Amino acid sequence: MSHTSWDKHLKDIDEENQAFKTTVLAEARKAVRAAYDAMHNDEIIDIAVSYDGTWHTRGHRSLYGIGVVVQITTGLVVDYEILSKYCHMCSIQKAELLSSAIYSKKTERAAATRSKKSKKDAEMYQAGQF
Ligand SMILES: [Zn+2]
Repeated sequence: MSHTSWDKHLKDIDEENQAFKTTVLAEARKAVRAAYDAMHNDEIIDIAVSYDGTWHTRGHRSLYGIGVVVQITTGLVVDYEILSKYCHMCSIQKAELLSSAIYSKKTERAAATRSKKSKKDAEMYQAGQF
């Protein structure tokens, strides 16, 4: 699969996930609103929440984590964020930059070697060794 196709599939999946997330969170928030409206019926409400987060694996080595905001009385998740320490696009970019930097250094070294050789040739020519 080409990078372009891969990126398009990732984008499509991300858009579907975002739509699903929006729908589920809207339902949860509506349920929390309904629970508070039964008690207060204010336009703006202060809700009691707790926050917790976890990583995909233990030992601080995981690249993926999630933070969750839970409304205390209903137990519903009213917000969350999935975080990643890894970005495929950034890793590709990093590899390309490193390879171009390595290429540049090799080119610089080759140019420096050619320059030294030319200088040596000129010295040998002046000394009559050619
Ligand atoms: Zn990135």
